[in-house]
Amino acid sequence: EATAELVASRVLDVPDFPKPGIMFKDLMPLFADGEAFRATIDAIVSRHQGRFDVVAGIEARGFVIAAAVAYAAGVGVVPVRKAGKLPRKVLAATYALEYGEATLELHADAFTAGQRVLVVDDVLATGGTAAATLGLIERAGGTVTGFSVLMELEFLGARAKLAPREVHALLVVA
Ligand code: IMP
Repeated sequence: EATAELVASRVLDVPDFPKPGIMFKDLMPLFADGEAFRATIDAIVSRHQGRFDVVAGIEARGFVIAAAVAYAAGVGVVPVRKAGKLPRKVLAATYALEYGEATLELHADAFTAGQRVLVVDDVLATGGTAAATLGLIERAGGTVTGFSVLMELEFLGARAKLAPREVHALLVVA
């Protein structure tokens, strides 16, 4: 599919980042290319059109995608942030990383009851970040209707952690 090829053509593999042994997928070239960026945002919006009332973006690259998707769809955007950044009452979720742990936070009043939420991020790897985000949004009263990412590293098995919610990736790396 055209958008899969577009993403594949704009990603750089960076060895040993952020830690030795990790091959980091750098999507900054896609973000920096106006035509490619617009095409990917349009693909996300058309795929999920009519099935979300608000977009949640995961810090930090997810914010870039979330803002563009929300603007194109005419809905609002809610940030899911790293610990200590949000100024008011938060819900927090701590989850395991390959080494150590991470905490994400969401304003407790970010959603109205039953509001349909599309979660966006750049890369879906193990799914730990997305699963923590799902838990936070549902505790806040939102309903996650889908996950949308530019790239999914399928071999890490994230989908099982997010089932039965819809997970869509513009590019799936097997
Ligand atoms: P997960 O929790 O293992 O699924 O990791 C996903 C989170 O880490 C997302 O917020 C991504 O932005 C980030 N991430 C993990 N691996 C990569 C990568 O190779 N490139 C860019 N971001 C990554």
